[in-house]
Amino acid sequence: MANYKDIIIIGGGAAGFFAAINIAKENPERSVTILERGKEGLQKVKISGGGRCNVTHAEFMPSELVLNYPRGEKELLGPFHSFMTGDTIAWFEERGVDLKIEEDGRMFPVSNSSQTIIDCFISEAKMYNVEVLYNHSVKTLDARATDFIVQTSQGELTCNKLVIATGSNPKIWKILNDLGHTIVPPVPSLFTFDIKDKRIKDIPGVVAKNVEVKVLGTDLVSEGPLLITHVGMSAPAILKLSAFGAVEFADLNYNFKIEINFIKQDTESCLNHIKALKYTLAKKSVIKSAQFDLPKRLWKQLVLAAGISNSERWADINKQQLEGLADQLTKAVFNVTGKSTFKEEFVTAGGVDLKEVNFKTFESKRIPNLYFAGEVINVDAVTGGFNFQNAWTGAYIVSQSITKT
Ligand SMILES: Cc1cc2nc3c(=O)[nH]c(=O)nc-3n(C[C@H](O)[C@H](O)[C@H](O)COP(=O)(O)OP(=O)(O)OC[C@H]3O[C@@H](n4cnc5c(N)ncnc54)[C@H](O)[C@@H]3O)c2cc1C
Repeated sequence: MANYKDIIIIGGGAAGFFAAINIAKENPERSVTILERGKEGLQKVKISGGGRCNVTHAEFMPSELVLNYPRGEKELLGPFHSFMTGDTIAWFEERGVDLKIEEDGRMFPVSNSSQTIIDCFISEAKMYNVEVLYNHSVKTLDARATDFIVQTSQGELTCNKLVIATGSNPKIWKILNDLGHTIVPPVPSLFTFDIKDKRIKDIPGVVAKNVEVKVLGTDLVSEGPLLITHVGMSAPAILKLSAFGAVEFADLNYNFKIEINFIKQDTESCLNHIKALKYTLAKKSVIKSAQFDLPKRLWKQLVLAAGISNSERWADINKQQLEGLADQLTKAVFNVTGKSTFKEEFVTAGGVDLKEVNFKTFESKRIPNLYFAGEVINVDAVTGGFNFQNAWTGAYIVSQSITKT
């Protein structure tokens, strides 16, 4: 039959290429075709991790790894027992791509270039005869009893097995919805918080090494480094919250209050600490004697916010000022008024409802022979290489499932 392919993969991104290569390697007798709407594929891989591609994360326990997925935690536990971060590292190493671990656990190609990953995929796809049809945008899908009809911008194709790896593409979600799948409405995840506040206005670039951030009126809380930016706050303490609170923050139209404990101590022990300084540092200027390992510029802003002036010494300040400073250090409230893009990595929460995917095979529970991999399903993770790991794991399991049938 003209234009018949055994296996079609829609989407030439991370998940699509990984699935296609692994399927083709195991099934040399079956034709494998990627349909990619762009004139090139792997565009997100290219820009990922600031151009370095944070391929995965050095976390080797499935039960720990899943904690990084606000959506997908429960469902990915089984799949991670089949294909994990260690398997990703081995997969790339076997193909001559060595990965290195950074201090925070993120893993990158030793070359520090996402092009290394792209080159690897393109050459593997070629080696196993994967056909990649660029400029083929999928317009409609028809699921028949024994095959699928795929209408593209360049004509019609038929196939026996269909893998959807289109990332967060609204048109494909609409088509899947028409075919009977539930689509959880998409909202952005992994963003920084916009905050206009005198305390942080003049100190972009300042990092507090380990803070606790609570979202007032919710159960959301996170810990980690915090970076003051030109428009607000970023770094893991904020990015983790943006992922775990993605749906709540969208509902709040990105307007909410956060409370920051800059020193991760309770207010009382903080107060006891600074009370003692009235005697031990009596003649020293408060503003110039930063405590708790806080950056000097941040300390200064918090001291000023507590109503302590530039010239005041520890001996001069009263009980109210001391309490004000303890509050600023341990429960400073900031108004978040919007969000900004975190350029290193962002993803979309939402997609194919997890209840409708068989996580042993990544096959649709609604339509036989239809498979999903990557961001098209309602899985997303915090920053650190976990989003790609979801793509590799899903795509690998799809390849194993298709190989067995
Ligand atoms: C700036 C940025 C940096 C990132 N950095 C990292 C990182 O360092 N580490 C990490 O783990 N994650 C990172 N991510 C997230 C990661 O890129 C995604 O989770 C991952 O790419 C998802 O893979 P995917 O294959 O599901 O989707 P995608 O990579 O988005 O691929 C989907 C493909 O499908 C194609 N497509 C869509 N619709 C159609 C259609 N109708 N017909 C044909 N083709 C179609 C698209 O053109 C695209 O090529 C980053 C994201 C961004 C935006």
